[in-house]
Amino acid sequence: MLIIVVSVLMLALPLIIQSYQRYQKNAVALSEMQSLKAVAELANLISSERGPANSAMSSTKAELQTHLLALKTRRAEVDLALQRMLVTLKQSQNKVGTHKIVSQLVPALKNGRDAVDAYIDLPIEQRSSVQLNHAIRTMFSVWDESYDVLQSLVDRSHGQETASSHYYPLILLLADLRDQAGRSASNIIAAVAFNESIPEDDLASSLQTQRQSRYLWKLIDVIHPNDTQNAEFTRLHRQVKTRFLDQGLPLVDGLLFNSLHHEPYELSSIELTQKIVGHFGSVVELQNYILDRSVLQAEAELNAARTKLLYTLVSVFLCLTAVIVTMVYAKKWVFAPLIHARQQLFDLAKDQAEHGSTSASHSVSLFDAIFHLKKKLQERDALEFQLKHHAYTDSLTGVSNRFALMKYVALIEQSHQNFSNHCMILFDVDKFKAVNDQHGHVVGDRVIEAVALTMKDHIRATDLLVRYGGDEFLILLEHVDLAQALQIAEKVRLAVLDIMLQVGNSAQPLTVSVSAGVATAEQTWVDLLEKADEALFRAKVKGRNVVSD
Ligand code: GH3
Ligand code: MG
Repeated sequence: MLIIVVSVLMLALPLIIQSYQRYQKNAVALSEMQSLKAVAELANLISSERGPANSAMSSTKAELQTHLLALKTRRAEVDLALQRMLVTLKQSQNKVGTHKIVSQLVPALKNGRDAVDAYIDLPIEQRSSVQLNHAIRTMFSVWDESYDVLQSLVDRSHGQETASSHYYPLILLLADLRDQAGRSASNIIAAVAFNESIPEDDLASSLQTQRQSRYLWKLIDVIHPNDTQNAEFTRLHRQVKTRFLDQGLPLVDGLLFNSLHHEPYELSSIELTQKIVGHFGSVVELQNYILDRSVLQAEAELNAARTKLLYTLVSVFLCLTAVIVTMVYAKKWVFAPLIHARQQLFDLAKDQAEHGSTSASHSVSLFDAIFHLKKKLQERDALEFQLKHHAYTDSLTGVSNRFALMKYVALIEQSHQNFSNHCMILFDVDKFKAVNDQHGHVVGDRVIEAVALTMKDHIRATDLLVRYGGDEFLILLEHVDLAQALQIAEKVRLAVLDIMLQVGNSAQPLTVSVSAGVATAEQTWVDLLEKADEALFRAKVKGRNVVSD
């Protein structure tokens, strides 16, 4: 039983391992997706810190406090998100991500903020567009570091083959789009703030980021996974096109146009920042939607893998239970009775071994036991046959006895036949008492034996010869008419006359005769017997050694 249980386990083990590995992979994929979502949101927040930073740096003395407060609030949000991010990455044991944040992102953020703060601290008359541009670009590098963390998470993902991993490229592209869009404005904000013409480099950078944004948008259009094809995605997707590409970027274009045509800027730097942030919102909304959806997808996959693992475990458990129950049942109801029967066979065959060879090796196998038992059964059959034979046979003459005759009669009557086609010849040895008296019973027995033997020699195998009484014999013949029966009786009578028995030293052999009564054409046994008896009586009356009907 243990072998069968182990075999079932061996068969089931690869299935369990496969299901468990799948479950593990999906659990890792979900954890990675949650980290990715957190980093993407952090990258967006870092990107969005540029808005209040730009406003604070571009503000007049009167507006400064308001913008500084907004900047402080945003920085606190970024710091909080950063701390949470570190906790998430530590929990998922992402050492590379943690290292990158601690050693690259945090210093870069500090650097960027220091540059912004240094600029804000400068007296207004000492400020220049170059310094402002420097502070803005230092903040760009902070986002670059956060994007690097995002990229490294995707590169090192263990859940690459899971369905939720199809969202990775889209998440990266949307994060990039969000930042490029911001940069297109940030690139020109310094010049606008100082009402100067946009330097060629910044102008080129702004145009480049716009082109990059449109290119990223085309990519997003092509690669978004099929399962995002729903009404909500379509709405958000369209919103990015109208709000951001069609309405947001032209704001920057307008300022570029003003600069190229040496016109006054139609928007101040603060107005540009405030307006364009509203248009970025559509990109952030789409990105958030994709991030939420990817986490949901990873959760759904994990649930499916968990269900499959549970199903596999339950199936294996049920299989094992079925095997064990079947084996226990088979042991109790099949094998145990067989073993018991085998033992009984051994026991039955035991005395054969005892009567035969004394060696125990004679009973070592079941075949031996069956062989001995078969032999014993054969012996019993032979004994039964002998007993039956004795019961039906007259012990002195070997011909059938009265019991056998009664059986035959009962058989005929049970099968609803009658005796109309039977003939009966009843013989009686003449003056037999005298034989006994003169020669003794032993000689008398020899006479009876000799008479029986003579009768046997003159009848067919199908005729029934019965020793009916002491010196009385009965022959029952089938399908024989009266004349034929009389002939047979006559032949027997003559044959008996030929019996010559040597008795003692007597020179004269002993001879005997028989009388016979023949009966036929009677329906019942009793009538036939009576008729034969009457015929015999007539034969005796006629003087014996006579056949009469
Ligand atoms: P009957 O001509 O009228 O037949 O005269 P019977 O002397 O033969 O008279 P009955 O047939 O009546 O006598 C039969 C005798 O057979 C009686 C009995 O002592 C004897 N007898 C019966 N069975 C045996 C036997 O098995 N062996 C011997 N030796 N004698 C037997
Ligand atoms: Mg007699």
